[in-house]
Amino acid sequence: MAASGVAVQAALEYTLLKGCFSANMQALSSIVPIPSSNLLSYVNKRTGQNISSCYQCGKCSAGCPTAYAMDIPPRQIMRALQLGLKDEILSSSAIWLCLSCHTCSQRCPREIDIAGVMEALRLLAISEGKRPREKDIAVFYKAFIEQIRMFGRVYEAGLGVSYNLRSMHLLNNAARLPALIGKRKLHLRPPRTSGAPEVRKIAARVKNLESSQAQL
Ligand code: SF4
Ligand code: SF4
Repeated sequence: MAASGVAVQAALEYTLLKGCFSANMQALSSIVPIPSSNLLSYVNKRTGQNISSCYQCGKCSAGCPTAYAMDIPPRQIMRALQLGLKDEILSSSAIWLCLSCHTCSQRCPREIDIAGVMEALRLLAISEGKRPREKDIAVFYKAFIEQIRMFGRVYEAGLGVSYNLRSMHLLNNAARLPALIGKRKLHLRPPRTSGAPEVRKIAARVKNLESSQAQL
């Protein structure tokens, strides 16, 4: 692809991602980026953890199912936090490859909720306008949350369409649709979930909470 084509695609992807996170960006637009020297205390406060107590045993990385693909595995993320390496952390693929499976949190001898720390780092990256290193995962993350907000549970067909449009992978998995529909594994109608209104209320409360925390 010509250089100008690459630049146009990069600009388009960035615009799409900013659009994906527009709700959060609006809520957090008043945030002043925190300096690297305050990173550790900021994440400790947001997560209720004491990251300084990590003694680098490595049990988190050893049990992490995606550590093999991360540029900075969980143990090193914890050390980077202690050292205030903010740019390296927020521009890493690791925070986006984390599955929130909580294996690390369960294994940590210092009872640090590493999964919660990863979540806080993703939100910090979004709030400071960092371009997600794993942009397709970021897009999926947003599309998934939207489905939960709308229907109270995942509406797989809607999730697929939303993800494909946002990620620009328009025909992603399209060839599998007939088989999935034929075997009734994919339903075209949105689900009717009795708890959906309650889930929407919870989502609204979380959004308000995020807005108020952004003012802190
Ligand atoms: S398991 Fe806990 S103490 Fe060990 S390296 Fe990971 S965060 Fe640190
Ligand atoms: S929560 Fe994230 S960092 Fe922890 S083990 Fe699971 S994938 Fe790895």
